[in-house]
Amino acid sequence: MIDPVDLTRRLIRCPSVTPEDAGAIDTVAEVLAAAGFVCTRCDRGGIANLYARWGTSGPVFGFNGHTDVVPAGDADAWTHDPFGGEIADGLLHGRGATDMKSGVAAFAAAAVRFVTETPPAGSVVLAITGDEEGPSVDGTRAILDWMAAAGERLDACLVGEPTCPETFGEMIKIGRRGSLTARIEARGVQGHAAYPHRARNPVSAMARLTARLSDHALDQGTDAFDPSTLALTAIDTGNPASNVIPAACRATVNIRFNDAHSSETLSAWLREMAERVAAETGIAFDMAIKVSGESFLTPPGPLSDLVSRAVAAETGVTPVLSTSGGTSDARFIRDHCPVVEFGLVGRTMHQVDECVPVDQIVALERVYRRILSDFFA
Ligand SMILES: [Zn+2]
Repeated sequence: MIDPVDLTRRLIRCPSVTPEDAGAIDTVAEVLAAAGFVCTRCDRGGIANLYARWGTSGPVFGFNGHTDVVPAGDADAWTHDPFGGEIADGLLHGRGATDMKSGVAAFAAAAVRFVTETPPAGSVVLAITGDEEGPSVDGTRAILDWMAAAGERLDACLVGEPTCPETFGEMIKIGRRGSLTARIEARGVQGHAAYPHRARNPVSAMARLTARLSDHALDQGTDAFDPSTLALTAIDTGNPASNVIPAACRATVNIRFNDAHSSETLSAWLREMAERVAAETGIAFDMAIKVSGESFLTPPGPLSDLVSRAVAAETGVTPVLSTSGGTSDARFIRDHCPVVEFGLVGRTMHQVDECVPVDQIVALERVYRRILSDFFA
């Protein structure tokens, strides 16, 4: 059998910072192949991806996760080597300890144990990518494209991202808000700060526009979602001089939106707001909008019930169904089959000294195993 803690340590020792794989995918593939999983690499665009399947018949239960990690940053700021996989005082340290090498190791260990001890009438699939933290173009999407071409289908999928804010077992994600980024440029006429009437100041026009965007309440929340949020993340002129009105000013705005909106309605709103300020100020705005994903919801039902029961049985905590947080690869899978997310406490993800209690990895493996046995019961 696979020890999920040992497998997490081995994965942490692969410095798989997106788009590098550093042997992480093969580390998982080897243990799965040894247990009878048919492992197919669905690499695309230099990204390592794995589709591993045990069984040939339906129903098919799938796990999804990623082995890539965000950079460690300043390694000297870490108490333990970010790629050492060290255990101290019951905590396993390293980049990816929570997000989400432990999740991958836990569902790999659960799947191997489950099919070995109680072979189900059906199939278990693990779809693991090396590009979730990066552009996410050649990651889970590449696996889903390969699956469509190969005629492979899942009946349900669980994404093993960390989902619990503080206490293990407290939260399952059944949807996610959408995300959209607008890069805005205001173009004016450069001039001497002592003669502002001879210039056209893009900075004050941008200040007006960004203030209006920030002050606008997008909605009050919906049945399944918190209110949408808009964050102004940059205003930049690149202007070192105090006596020059610059010719241009750039700003970046990120919107996390619920099911009261779509990227289309929000893009139209952003452009309309910019047009109004342009009409008032005579400053032209350019806007480039990038959509990371629309909002989605897997309405509470058989899959979320099954996962909730398994979590409660193993942890003693009744989880809430939530749509909070950032985006995840569930936004791609939701077009394929019902998808929910459950994993560890994510408090230290993407931080210096990312770590996870060793016993939580063991508990997560138990939850995943119970989900499998309940699904096939
Ligand atoms: Zn993650």
